[in-house]
Amino acid sequence: MKSSVAIIGAGNVGSTAAYALMMRNLVSSILLVDVDEKRCQGEVYDLVGALSFGGASDIHKGTLQQAGQANIVVIAAGKAQKPNQPRLELLRENQEIITSIIKGMQPLRKDLIIIMVTNPVDVLTMLVQDVAGLPRNQIFGSGTLLDSQRLRNIIGERLAIAQKSIHLYALGEHGDSQFVAWSLANIGGVPLIQFPGLTQSFLDECAIKAKNYAYEIIACKGSTSFGIAGCVSAYCQNILFDLNRVTPVSCYQEEFGICLSMPAVLGMQGIKQILKLPLNEQEYEYLNKSAKIIKESYQLMRM
Ligand code: NAD
Repeated sequence: MKSSVAIIGAGNVGSTAAYALMMRNLVSSILLVDVDEKRCQGEVYDLVGALSFGGASDIHKGTLQQAGQANIVVIAAGKAQKPNQPRLELLRENQEIITSIIKGMQPLRKDLIIIMVTNPVDVLTMLVQDVAGLPRNQIFGSGTLLDSQRLRNIIGERLAIAQKSIHLYALGEHGDSQFVAWSLANIGGVPLIQFPGLTQSFLDECAIKAKNYAYEIIACKGSTSFGIAGCVSAYCQNILFDLNRVTPVSCYQEEFGICLSMPAVLGMQGIKQILKLPLNEQEYEYLNKSAKIIKESYQLMRM
């Protein structure tokens, strides 16, 4: 099967995502698009050097219109956070960039899947759903998969248990109002809150650490790229191989009228099903709070 992924924004995130896709042998063709054509060409030349160690057959610099004909478009273009800057502050500038990108990609392939990465990702996923003219299930944001992964790593390290065996979800905004559904988190069926060696206050500390990880990384090296590139490659694998795996994605929530992260079944058509989690009362309150924050930003964006 021939599969193509176009990445718009060949900066830290976009070029690292291209590298991850290539080295994981997930796609046959990768297209990079960026307004900074020189940078984009440089990334392509550099990535070509690794082609024979991965699975992709080609990697090229291209146009927005060509991107609109790929199997999957990953959007990682726009302004990134500066040290200590909340993601929501990027909204104004990135809103214009994303709108112009979606217009530039038209006409879109009917079965195109769009993965939004640019921050603030939940609000901008809504924007893309509003302007792209594709079914909502074909457009989702990278959401709290990354936050959930970071948290699993922190807890796994403490317990010396593989992070893949720690089942938990950070949910809501990929940002400061995210929360963890502790009541549903478990290791091998044992609720995490009852797991030997763990206390609720330790878990809460871990959740804060995971939530603030991006700030810490940006303070140290100016940007984050490897974790999100891993997430992008996992989403693409799920779609291109029709795996039907459950993973958190920023997706449209009928109840709130905005996008936020919930676990969903992902496959070839994009989102196949969004899970309805049996959250407890406090978690549902956190979810409402997070939805309210995203909704306020969304309304501000539309003014
Ligand atoms: P970067 O500055 O390294 O790269 C951004 C690229 O976008 C630049 O090369 C720039 O030229 C390009 N660009 C700007 N306007 C464009 C347009 N109209 N068309 C095409 N390309 C355009 O930034 P980065 O570190 O790669 O981050 C990119 C985005 O991803 C930021 O918004 C960042 O906050 C976000 N991000 C999201 C997550 C997540 O989990 N969702 C994680 C990390 C970063």
